Amino acid sequence: MIRNDIRNIAIIAHVDHGKTTLVDAMLKQSHIFRENEKVAERVMDSNDLERERGITILSKNTSVMHKGTKINILDTPGHADFGGEVERVLTMVDGVLLLVDAYEGPMPQTKYVLRKALEKHLKPIVVINKIDRPDQRATEVVDEVLDLFIELEADDEQLEFPVVYTSARSGFAKLSMDDDSDNLEPLFQVILDTIPAPDVEADQPLQMLANTLDYDSYVGRIVVGRIVRGTIKNGQQIALMHEEKVSVERIGRLYTYQGLKRVETAEVQAGDIVALIGLSNVEIGDTIADPEQPEALAGIKIDEPTLSME
Ligand code: GDP
Repeated sequence: MIRNDIRNIAIIAHVDHGKTTLVDAMLKQSHIFRENEKVAERVMDSNDLERERGITILSKNTSVMHKGTKINILDTPGHADFGGEVERVLTMVDGVLLLVDAYEGPMPQTKYVLRKALEKHLKPIVVINKIDRPDQRATEVVDEVLDLFIELEADDEQLEFPVVYTSARSGFAKLSMDDDSDNLEPLFQVILDTIPAPDVEADQPLQMLANTLDYDSYVGRIVVGRIVRGTIKNGQQIALMHEEKVSVERIGRLYTYQGLKRVETAEVQAGDIVALIGLSNVEIGDTIADPEQPEALAGIKIDEPTLSME
């Protein structure tokens, strides 16, 4: 089943190239979530219990809605890391936005993450940001990015990357420097057209990987992962496979990403990114599966983190 209602992407950006500003601008222009958030904030202010439950905490992941499609946007550490976090984030997505400052050009610190993304054959979109800068040299910067892709042995398809020129600060995107634009529509459209929709088996037994872990002092461990197969439900029993050991546990609550927040939901289908609480023993890299179908535990693989620093 192709889930055309979802895209999963990660952003790779050198610090200060404008990632926060771009995601904020995307959220602002993504009206549905914006309106929901205003409502949610009002409800939350009068409801301390909800706050205590920890669902108001901001997360590193966001999502925006465009033409009925939810775009989950995951943050990457942006540099080499030794814990394998880059790998685990990239395992959840089908494409990446490489955000590059139109004056500074690509920076060596993001090379490690970009290399990993290219090795995983993820679809890249190159976003040249800050084109409003008087000293912008966007055209040269695109050539520098192409050189970098060649150096990192991008495949032929990846070398055909689309380029979007943006001013995150002014909230516009264009497909060529000569275009006029007053919004980010061209960026949203390129994401929908370029990044593959998840192709999943939603009617198979549940299978997901605990890709990343967050911690909240009230709710404890928050597991984040992409559902690879099947459906996960509130309160459902699952088999948790930790190294060779399997234990049966019960999911507490489920959340998906809406705008800047996690929003509680009853059921999430394969292809989407979910945050879940209630698994007190879960560790990064554990597999979560249907307890009736333990064979579903086999088969998820994640690349071992490579200890190289560039
Ligand atoms: P991050 O570290 O990648 O999250 O970068 P930020 O979003 O915090 O932006 C870093 C700085 O660049 C801030 O001062 C922003 O206002 C500025 N900035 C971001 N986008 C643009 C842009 O499109 N044009 C210009 N001129 N400045 C920008």
